[in-house]
Amino acid sequence: MRNYARLEVGFERGEGVWLWDAGGRRYLDAISGLAVCGLGHAHPAVARAVAEQSARLVHTSNLYQVDLQARLADRLAAISGLDRVFFCNSGTEAVEAAIKLARAWARNRGRGAPVIVTVEGAFHGRTLGSLAAADPGAEKIFGPLPAGFVQAPFNDAAAVERLLEETPQACAVLVEPIQGEGGVRVPGAGYLAALRETCNRHEALLIFDEVQTGVGRTGAWYRCLDEHVRPDALTTAKALANGVPIGACLATADVAECFQPGMHGSTFGGNPLASAAALAVLNVIESENLCARAAETGAYLQEQLRAALGNIAGVVEVRGRGLMIGIELDRPCAALAAQALDKDLLINITAERVIRLLPPLVLNYEQADIIVATLAELVPPFIAEND
Ligand code: PLP
Repeated sequence: MRNYARLEVGFERGEGVWLWDAGGRRYLDAISGLAVCGLGHAHPAVARAVAEQSARLVHTSNLYQVDLQARLADRLAAISGLDRVFFCNSGTEAVEAAIKLARAWARNRGRGAPVIVTVEGAFHGRTLGSLAAADPGAEKIFGPLPAGFVQAPFNDAAAVERLLEETPQACAVLVEPIQGEGGVRVPGAGYLAALRETCNRHEALLIFDEVQTGVGRTGAWYRCLDEHVRPDALTTAKALANGVPIGACLATADVAECFQPGMHGSTFGGNPLASAAALAVLNVIESENLCARAAETGAYLQEQLRAALGNIAGVVEVRGRGLMIGIELDRPCAALAAQALDKDLLINITAERVIRLLPPLVLNYEQADIIVATLAELVPPFIAEND
């Protein structure tokens, strides 16, 4: 089906930050399969875990005990400070689980027709619930969308508070700590903490969608840990198993209690293969201190990008955290992705005008310099030609 506007290239193999096409041409991957391959491509520890586990046992279903899944849940709980985990296979499924959990929690409190507050410009995935949560405009194509969502402007905790006041059925606030698809938009300092207080005042759940920001991407295991804000639930996916599909919804014990056997589930979710891959990923991130490394390399990359591009007319802002970086231009720039490809660099354009960089966490300084040099060659002529 014609879902994707694909670039004219495909890849045969990868290693670290590098990808090779069938002709043997090498590219620097500054997008990591959309924030998925945080450890880079063909990481030996993940390859070994997948090979060994697939030779032993791939799948048994959640009808039975899955020891590797339980071990992974324990690791995620220890990392996040949350208590319980539900496993699925993608980011949007993790968000669906969070939505259902919030609704079940509201019903347990006698609140019918629960409403969830979300944020304009958000992206939570492509299933109907996630779509309804983030993009009311999708009603025109895919309606009727599920009801029960209202939106606040970006980075406006007071507006969230007003919506919670005005909406007696409001039961939760669902927010990305940094908007990814929306253009790498970073809310102001204290925003997440203000949402926490607002939710506490109004007895609403605070849910962070860390599908893109999580697993080291922003220089911490999860962005909310850096901000010292504990949500009631958190979604994670993408980088969790470095490309083996997996998603998870984490929650506090109290909230998680709202799911009773039979209420929600997944055939594949947390199967031994995906769990083994995810455990390998978490071990590598921990043993190689990759969160700290992403914070350092990311700060360097942002600084160099600002030095190279910050003063060019047409470049609005260089922003981000860790290795989640956006360069906003004052004009649409979709064509830059193909131009970068011609220079052996994979980047992505999001929200029409934002060059998005999500390189593997293992990126080194020399490779960061290649990204900067390539963009410094591309962006000024692009702006001049499109004036
Ligand atoms: N939530 C956020 C914040 C995302 O960035 C994405 C994907 O980009 C999703 C949810 C959906 O994830 P998936 O494509 O794995 O369903």
